[in-house]
Amino acid sequence: MQAFHYENVDQVASAINAATEGVKFIAGGTTLVDLMKLNVERPTGLLDINRLPLDQIERTADGGLKIGAMVRNSDLAHNADVQQQYSVLSQALLSGASPQLRNMATTGGNLLQRTRCFYFRDTNYACNKRNPGSGCAAIDGFNRIHAILGTSEHCVATRPSDMCVAMMVLEAIIHIQGKQGERTVPINQFYFVPGTTPHRENVLAPGELITSVTLPALPKGTRSYYLKRRDRASYEFALASAAVVASVQGGQIERVRIALGGVGTKPWRCLEAERVLEKRSPGEKNFREGAEAALRAPKPLHNNAFKVELAKSTLIRALTVATSNA
Ligand code: SF4
Repeated sequence: MQAFHYENVDQVASAINAATEGVKFIAGGTTLVDLMKLNVERPTGLLDINRLPLDQIERTADGGLKIGAMVRNSDLAHNADVQQQYSVLSQALLSGASPQLRNMATTGGNLLQRTRCFYFRDTNYACNKRNPGSGCAAIDGFNRIHAILGTSEHCVATRPSDMCVAMMVLEAIIHIQGKQGERTVPINQFYFVPGTTPHRENVLAPGELITSVTLPALPKGTRSYYLKRRDRASYEFALASAAVVASVQGGQIERVRIALGGVGTKPWRCLEAERVLEKRSPGEKNFREGAEAALRAPKPLHNNAFKVELAKSTLIRALTVATSNA
Protein backbone atom coordinates (compact mmCIF):
# COMPACT_ATOMS: atom_id res chain seq x y z
CA MET A 1 0.00 0.00 0.00
CA GLN A 2 1.39 3.40 -0.88
CA ALA A 3 1.65 6.16 1.74
CA PHE A 4 -1.24 8.63 1.94
CA HIS A 5 -2.24 11.54 4.10
CA TYR A 6 -5.41 11.41 6.16
CA GLU A 7 -7.76 14.20 7.22
CA ASN A 8 -11.11 14.44 9.01
CA VAL A 9 -13.75 16.84 7.75
CA ASP A 10 -17.02 17.71 9.48
CA GLN A 11 -18.74 19.95 6.93
CA VAL A 12 -19.75 19.25 3.34
CA ALA A 13 -18.20 22.51 2.11
CA SER A 14 -14.84 21.74 3.71
CA ALA A 15 -14.92 18.20 2.29
CA ILE A 16 -15.47 19.53 -1.21
CA ASN A 17 -12.81 22.23 -0.86
CA ALA A 18 -10.27 19.68 0.37
CA ALA A 19 -10.98 17.19 -2.43
CA THR A 20 -7.92 17.81 -4.58
CA GLU A 21 -6.57 15.50 -7.29
CA GLY A 22 -5.56 12.06 -6.03
CA VAL A 23 -7.59 12.42 -2.82
CA LYS A 24 -10.55 10.15 -2.10
CA PHE A 25 -13.45 10.39 0.32
CA ILE A 26 -13.65 7.54 2.80
CA ALA A 27 -16.82 6.64 4.71
CA GLY A 28 -17.36 3.03 5.87
CA GLY A 29 -14.27 1.97 3.95
CA THR A 30 -15.74 -1.46 3.18
CA THR A 31 -14.61 -1.30 -0.45
CA LEU A 32 -11.87 1.31 -0.51
CA VAL A 33 -9.68 -0.10 2.26
CA ASP A 34 -9.72 -3.58 0.68
CA LEU A 35 -8.73 -2.15 -2.67
CA MET A 36 -5.95 -0.04 -1.13
CA LYS A 37 -4.51 -3.14 0.52
CA LEU A 38 -4.52 -4.82 -2.88
CA ASN A 39 -2.84 -1.80 -4.50
CA VAL A 40 -5.81 -1.45 -6.84
CA GLU A 41 -6.68 1.94 -5.33
CA ARG A 42 -3.71 4.20 -4.65
CA PRO A 43 -5.03 7.53 -3.34
CA THR A 44 -2.52 10.15 -2.22
CA GLY A 45 -4.89 11.20 0.54
CA LEU A 46 -8.08 10.17 2.33
CA LEU A 47 -10.75 12.59 3.48
CA ASP A 48 -12.71 10.93 6.27
CA ILE A 49 -16.33 12.04 5.86
CA ASN A 50 -17.81 10.00 8.71
CA ARG A 51 -18.51 13.16 10.71
CA LEU A 52 -20.51 14.91 8.00
CA PRO A 53 -24.09 15.68 9.12
CA LEU A 54 -25.60 13.43 6.43
CA ASP A 55 -26.85 10.54 8.54
CA GLN A 56 -30.58 11.26 8.73
CA ILE A 57 -33.59 9.58 7.11
CA GLU A 58 -36.43 12.08 6.69
CA ARG A 59 -39.89 12.19 5.14
CA THR A 60 -40.18 14.62 2.25
CA ALA A 61 -43.10 17.02 1.79
CA ASP A 62 -44.52 14.94 -1.09
CA GLY A 63 -44.55 11.70 0.93
CA GLY A 64 -41.21 10.36 -0.24
CA LEU A 65 -38.03 9.73 1.71
CA LYS A 66 -34.71 11.55 1.87
CA ILE A 67 -31.77 9.36 2.85
CA GLY A 68 -28.51 11.02 3.87
CA ALA A 69 -25.42 9.66 2.14
CA MET A 70 -23.88 8.67 5.49
CA VAL A 71 -26.86 6.56 6.63
CA ARG A 72 -25.48 3.08 7.34
CA ASN A 73 -26.91 0.16 5.41
CA SER A 74 -28.15 -1.48 8.65
CA ASP A 75 -29.99 1.65 9.75
CA LEU A 76 -31.58 2.04 6.35
CA ALA A 77 -32.65 -1.60 6.16
CA HIS A 78 -34.31 -1.45 9.59
CA ASN A 79 -35.92 1.97 9.24
CA ALA A 80 -39.69 1.65 9.78
CA ASP A 81 -40.64 3.79 6.74
CA VAL A 82 -38.32 1.80 4.51
CA GLN A 83 -39.67 -1.52 5.76
CA GLN A 84 -43.29 -0.46 5.31
CA GLN A 85 -43.18 1.52 2.07
CA TYR A 86 -40.00 0.49 0.32
CA SER A 87 -39.64 -3.10 1.44
CA VAL A 88 -37.71 -4.00 -1.72
CA LEU A 89 -34.93 -1.73 -0.47
CA SER A 90 -34.84 -3.29 2.99
CA GLN A 91 -34.83 -6.79 1.48
CA ALA A 92 -32.02 -5.92 -0.92
CA LEU A 93 -29.87 -4.39 1.81
CA LEU A 94 -30.35 -7.34 4.15
CA SER A 95 -29.42 -9.77 1.38
CA GLY A 96 -26.04 -8.10 0.96
CA ALA A 97 -22.74 -8.63 2.79
CA SER A 98 -22.73 -9.45 6.53
CA PRO A 99 -24.20 -7.61 9.55
CA GLN A 100 -20.74 -6.26 10.41
CA LEU A 101 -20.26 -4.83 6.92
CA ARG A 102 -23.80 -3.43 6.82
CA ASN A 103 -23.09 -1.61 10.10
CA MET A 104 -20.18 0.19 8.43
CA ALA A 105 -21.23 0.59 4.79
CA THR A 106 -23.04 3.80 3.89
CA THR A 107 -25.72 4.69 1.35
CA GLY A 108 -23.34 6.88 -0.66
CA GLY A 109 -20.58 4.29 -0.55
CA ASN A 110 -22.89 1.48 -1.63
CA LEU A 111 -23.84 3.49 -4.73
CA LEU A 112 -20.14 3.56 -5.61
CA GLN A 113 -19.32 -0.06 -4.76
CA ARG A 114 -16.68 -1.45 -7.16
CA THR A 115 -16.87 -4.66 -9.11
CA ARG A 116 -15.91 -8.05 -7.66
CA CYS A 117 -14.22 -9.11 -10.93
CA PHE A 118 -11.25 -11.26 -9.79
CA TYR A 119 -8.98 -9.72 -12.40
CA PHE A 120 -9.80 -6.15 -11.40
CA ARG A 121 -8.74 -6.98 -7.84
CA ASP A 122 -5.47 -8.68 -8.80
CA THR A 123 -2.81 -6.37 -10.23
CA ASN A 124 -1.05 -9.31 -11.92
CA TYR A 125 -3.77 -9.35 -14.59
CA ALA A 126 -4.72 -7.04 -17.44
CA CYS A 127 -7.77 -4.93 -16.63
CA ASN A 128 -9.07 -1.97 -18.62
CA LYS A 129 -11.05 -0.72 -15.65
CA ARG A 130 -8.01 -0.59 -13.36
CA ASN A 131 -5.45 0.25 -16.03
CA PRO A 132 -7.09 1.67 -19.19
CA GLY A 133 -5.80 0.15 -22.40
CA SER A 134 -4.20 -2.89 -20.75
CA GLY A 135 -6.84 -5.42 -21.90
CA CYS A 136 -9.44 -7.55 -20.15
CA ALA A 137 -8.32 -10.83 -18.59
CA ALA A 138 -11.90 -11.86 -17.86
CA ILE A 139 -13.04 -12.22 -21.46
CA ASP A 140 -10.86 -15.30 -22.06
CA GLY A 141 -10.53 -16.13 -18.37
CA PHE A 142 -12.87 -17.59 -15.76
CA ASN A 143 -15.98 -15.48 -16.23
CA ARG A 144 -18.76 -17.33 -14.42
CA ILE A 145 -19.67 -14.29 -12.27
CA HIS A 146 -19.50 -11.76 -15.08
CA ALA A 147 -22.17 -9.85 -16.98
CA ILE A 148 -24.38 -10.86 -19.89
CA LEU A 149 -26.02 -7.46 -20.43
CA GLY A 150 -24.38 -4.13 -21.27
CA THR A 151 -20.96 -5.63 -21.89
CA SER A 152 -18.33 -4.52 -24.38
CA GLU A 153 -15.14 -6.06 -25.73
CA HIS A 154 -13.33 -3.88 -23.19
CA CYS A 155 -15.10 -4.97 -19.97
CA VAL A 156 -17.69 -7.53 -18.84
CA ALA A 157 -17.73 -6.79 -15.10
CA THR A 158 -20.95 -6.69 -13.10
CA ARG A 159 -21.86 -4.07 -10.53
CA PRO A 160 -22.28 -6.05 -7.31
CA SER A 161 -24.55 -3.83 -5.18
CA ASP A 162 -27.99 -5.19 -4.24
CA MET A 163 -29.11 -1.81 -2.89
CA CYS A 164 -28.65 -0.15 -6.28
CA VAL A 165 -30.97 -2.66 -7.98
CA ALA A 166 -33.73 -1.81 -5.51
CA MET A 167 -33.07 1.91 -5.90
CA MET A 168 -33.40 1.50 -9.66
CA VAL A 169 -37.03 0.30 -9.38
CA LEU A 170 -37.75 2.96 -6.77
CA GLU A 171 -36.50 5.57 -9.28
CA ALA A 172 -34.17 7.15 -6.75
CA ILE A 173 -32.77 10.62 -7.29
CA ILE A 174 -29.11 11.10 -6.37
CA HIS A 175 -28.10 14.48 -4.91
CA ILE A 176 -24.55 15.57 -5.65
CA GLN A 177 -22.49 18.51 -4.48
CA GLY A 178 -19.22 19.79 -5.91
CA LYS A 179 -17.19 22.94 -6.41
CA GLN A 180 -19.61 23.94 -9.21
CA GLY A 181 -22.65 23.67 -6.89
CA GLU A 182 -25.43 21.11 -6.40
CA ARG A 183 -27.15 18.89 -8.93
CA THR A 184 -29.45 15.87 -9.01
CA VAL A 185 -29.26 12.82 -11.23
CA PRO A 186 -31.90 10.08 -11.59
CA ILE A 187 -30.30 6.75 -10.77
CA ASN A 188 -31.02 5.34 -14.24
CA GLN A 189 -28.75 8.08 -15.64
CA PHE A 190 -26.06 7.78 -12.96
CA TYR A 191 -24.12 4.72 -14.18
CA PHE A 192 -22.32 4.18 -17.50
CA VAL A 193 -22.04 0.92 -19.39
CA PRO A 194 -18.34 0.20 -20.02
CA GLY A 195 -18.13 0.85 -23.79
CA THR A 196 -14.55 1.80 -24.61
CA THR A 197 -14.00 3.50 -21.22
CA PRO A 198 -14.75 0.99 -18.43
CA HIS A 199 -12.72 3.07 -15.95
CA ARG A 200 -15.50 5.70 -16.14
CA GLU A 201 -18.31 4.16 -14.09
CA ASN A 202 -20.66 7.03 -13.28
CA VAL A 203 -21.40 10.71 -13.83
CA LEU A 204 -19.51 11.99 -10.79
CA ALA A 205 -16.86 14.56 -11.65
CA PRO A 206 -13.60 14.56 -9.65
CA GLY A 207 -14.21 15.97 -6.18
CA GLU A 208 -18.00 15.67 -6.31
CA LEU A 209 -19.72 14.17 -3.27
CA ILE A 210 -23.02 12.30 -3.03
CA THR A 211 -24.92 14.01 -0.22
CA SER A 212 -28.29 12.21 -0.23
CA VAL A 213 -30.74 10.08 -2.14
CA THR A 214 -34.45 10.78 -2.39
CA LEU A 215 -37.10 8.17 -3.08
CA PRO A 216 -40.37 9.39 -4.63
CA ALA A 217 -43.61 8.35 -2.96
CA LEU A 218 -45.10 5.17 -4.40
CA PRO A 219 -48.73 4.92 -5.54
CA LYS A 220 -51.10 3.52 -2.92
CA GLY A 221 -51.32 -0.26 -2.98
CA THR A 222 -47.84 -0.75 -4.44
CA ARG A 223 -46.04 -3.93 -3.45
CA SER A 224 -42.41 -4.77 -3.97
CA TYR A 225 -39.99 -7.66 -3.72
CA TYR A 226 -36.28 -8.41 -4.08
CA LEU A 227 -35.05 -11.89 -4.92
CA LYS A 228 -31.37 -12.76 -4.97
CA ARG A 229 -29.89 -16.01 -6.24
CA ARG A 230 -26.31 -16.87 -5.33
CA ASP A 231 -23.94 -19.76 -4.63
CA ARG A 232 -24.54 -19.74 -0.86
CA ALA A 233 -27.24 -18.36 1.40
CA SER A 234 -25.38 -15.42 2.95
CA TYR A 235 -22.36 -13.18 2.53
CA GLU A 236 -22.30 -13.75 -1.21
CA PHE A 237 -22.86 -11.66 -4.33
CA ALA A 238 -25.75 -12.24 -6.71
CA LEU A 239 -25.44 -14.51 -9.73
CA ALA A 240 -28.81 -13.05 -10.64
CA SER A 241 -31.26 -10.89 -8.73
CA ALA A 242 -34.53 -9.16 -9.51
CA ALA A 243 -36.25 -6.15 -7.94
CA VAL A 244 -39.91 -5.56 -8.71
CA VAL A 245 -42.29 -2.77 -7.71
CA ALA A 246 -45.87 -3.40 -8.86
CA SER A 247 -49.44 -2.31 -8.34
CA VAL A 248 -52.36 -4.48 -9.45
CA GLN A 249 -55.92 -3.18 -9.80
CA GLY A 250 -58.97 -5.01 -11.09
CA GLY A 251 -56.89 -8.03 -12.05
CA GLN A 252 -54.52 -5.93 -14.16
CA ILE A 253 -50.95 -4.79 -13.60
CA GLU A 254 -51.37 -0.99 -13.44
CA ARG A 255 -47.74 -0.09 -12.93
CA VAL A 256 -44.56 -2.15 -12.74
CA ARG A 257 -40.89 -1.31 -12.37
CA ILE A 258 -38.29 -4.02 -12.93
CA ALA A 259 -34.51 -4.20 -12.52
CA LEU A 260 -31.99 -7.02 -12.58
CA GLY A 261 -28.77 -7.42 -10.62
CA GLY A 262 -25.82 -9.76 -11.06
CA VAL A 263 -26.19 -9.89 -14.83
CA GLY A 264 -25.55 -6.33 -16.06
CA THR A 265 -22.58 -4.00 -16.14
CA LYS A 266 -24.80 -1.62 -14.19
CA PRO A 267 -28.04 -2.13 -12.22
CA TRP A 268 -30.21 -3.15 -15.14
CA ARG A 269 -33.59 -1.45 -15.56
CA CYS A 270 -35.88 -3.52 -17.82
CA LEU A 271 -38.05 -0.94 -19.58
CA GLU A 272 -39.15 -3.29 -22.35
CA ALA A 273 -40.33 -5.88 -19.85
CA GLU A 274 -42.30 -3.18 -18.04
CA ARG A 275 -44.02 -2.21 -21.30
CA VAL A 276 -44.87 -5.85 -22.00
CA LEU A 277 -46.43 -6.36 -18.57
CA GLU A 278 -48.36 -3.16 -17.92
CA LYS A 279 -52.12 -3.49 -18.55
CA ARG A 280 -51.80 -7.26 -18.63
CA SER A 281 -52.97 -9.72 -16.01
CA PRO A 282 -50.48 -11.22 -13.58
CA GLY A 283 -49.67 -14.85 -14.34
CA GLU A 284 -47.00 -17.28 -15.44
CA LYS A 285 -47.52 -16.84 -19.19
CA ASN A 286 -47.29 -13.04 -19.11
CA PHE A 287 -44.41 -13.10 -16.63
CA ARG A 288 -42.51 -15.42 -18.98
CA GLU A 289 -43.10 -12.93 -21.83
CA GLY A 290 -41.83 -10.13 -19.61
CA ALA A 291 -38.74 -12.13 -18.69
CA GLU A 292 -38.03 -12.90 -22.36
CA ALA A 293 -38.27 -9.15 -23.08
CA ALA A 294 -35.89 -8.36 -20.21
CA LEU A 295 -33.30 -10.80 -21.58
CA ARG A 296 -33.93 -10.14 -25.28
CA ALA A 297 -30.27 -9.76 -26.30
CA PRO A 298 -27.91 -11.29 -23.73
CA LYS A 299 -24.25 -11.83 -24.56
CA PRO A 300 -23.21 -14.83 -22.47
CA LEU A 301 -19.52 -15.64 -22.05
CA HIS A 302 -18.05 -19.16 -22.07
CA ASN A 303 -18.64 -19.75 -18.34
CA ASN A 304 -21.88 -17.90 -17.65
CA ALA A 305 -24.54 -18.93 -20.20
CA PHE A 306 -26.50 -20.34 -17.25
CA LYS A 307 -27.23 -16.77 -16.16
CA VAL A 308 -29.68 -16.23 -19.02
CA GLU A 309 -32.25 -18.72 -17.75
CA LEU A 310 -31.36 -18.03 -14.11
CA ALA A 311 -32.17 -14.33 -14.57
CA LYS A 312 -35.46 -15.15 -16.28
CA SER A 313 -36.60 -17.57 -13.59
CA THR A 314 -35.52 -15.13 -10.86
CA LEU A 315 -37.57 -12.37 -12.45
CA ILE A 316 -40.62 -14.60 -12.92
CA ARG A 317 -40.50 -15.59 -9.26
CA ALA A 318 -40.07 -11.97 -8.11
CA LEU A 319 -43.01 -10.85 -10.27
CA THR A 320 -45.14 -13.66 -8.87
CA VAL A 321 -44.45 -12.65 -5.27
CA ALA A 322 -44.78 -8.89 -5.87
CA THR A 323 -48.18 -9.26 -7.53
CA SER A 324 -49.68 -11.93 -5.28
CA ASN A 325 -52.55 -10.94 -2.92
CA ALA A 326 -52.43 -7.44 -4.36
FE1 SF4 B 1 -11.18 -5.47 -15.72
FE2 SF4 B 1 -13.68 -5.32 -16.54
FE3 SF4 B 1 -12.09 -7.09 -17.63
FE4 SF4 B 1 -12.78 -7.41 -15.09
S1 SF4 B 1 -14.15 -7.51 -16.82
S2 SF4 B 1 -10.73 -7.64 -15.98
S3 SF4 B 1 -12.99 -5.28 -14.43
S4 SF4 B 1 -11.86 -4.86 -17.75
